[in-house]
Amino acid sequence: MRLSGVGMVAGVVGRPIARSLSPAIHNAWLAAAGLDGVYAPLSVTAERFEGLVGALRGGSLRGLNVTAPFKESALALADEADPAARAAGAANLLLFGADGRVEARNTDGLGLMAALGEQAGAFQPVGATVVLLGAGGAAKGAAAILLAAGVDQLRVVNRTAERAEALAETLGPKATAHDWGALEQALDGAALLVNATTLGRSGESPLSLPLERMRGDAVVMDMIYHPLRTALLARAEAAGLAPVDGLAMLIGQARPSFEALFGAPPPARVDARRVALEAMA
Ligand code: NAP
Repeated sequence: MRLSGVGMVAGVVGRPIARSLSPAIHNAWLAAAGLDGVYAPLSVTAERFEGLVGALRGGSLRGLNVTAPFKESALALADEADPAARAAGAANLLLFGADGRVEARNTDGLGLMAALGEQAGAFQPVGATVVLLGAGGAAKGAAAILLAAGVDQLRVVNRTAERAEALAETLGPKATAHDWGALEQALDGAALLVNATTLGRSGESPLSLPLERMRGDAVVMDMIYHPLRTALLARAEAAGLAPVDGLAMLIGQARPSFEALFGAPPPARVDARRVALEAMA
């Protein structure tokens, strides 16, 4: 790594942050591109997040990726936001301008579409029926980009029914809310299932669903990447469906983040997945 006094500094903020794979990925890209820069992990308490953003305004830090639990606060603290961040109600990227202004962006949706393209290239969003589990920030971003890609029916299923209803209402006539208890029926004929809940993360209960109710060529996407092969993805594979993992999405959101932070695309010769898997091991 080459870092001078005018080196570009960026990072990722979340709590906890120790298991974030973003520093490994971005620093590998920086090194391969020969850029004078560094990408660091940062953590603050919820009470101090606003103070951190305030302190960084107009300084030399290029920007921050933002992860749980600060994505909604990040959007609220920004002076401007791109349509993806507004649609998600959350930002995963804050860019600090020299004039003191802060711009919020959300690249998670791009990450989701990149993951589908990479691991389930045959999936056609146009006219598809999609089941979306969750109604948090990640689900909102996914819903917006899937509908923009041409999905015909988006079935939003969430543990807290009111949140599913509120989300479906903002999305227009192609989105419908379904009770958590009706999840199995919601799978009928679906071409894509996206898990945007925390269910299935290491230490939490796995999702076990009758995936055979979906189309024979259906795709099952899990945003979780700890563990990489969730119980849901293992079931999808066993049922002969195409699994798409959260690591592909993570790398897919990191690419446009890197370009926005450092002004150059990530070098294609870096195997970002291998870098991330080594960091996970
Ligand atoms: P969030 O805003 O906190 O939303 C969490 C969602 O999980 C809510 O819909 C919540 O339902 C649901 N949930 C939590 N515990 C549950 C349980 N026991 N049973 C059923 N549902 C439960 O989080 P988020 O930011 O949207 O993130 C969601 C997931 O996506 C996380 O696992 C996150 O790590 C992952 N993610 C991955 C990437 C990537 O690049 N791979 C990017 C973004 C997010 P209620 O509304 O009922 O609470």
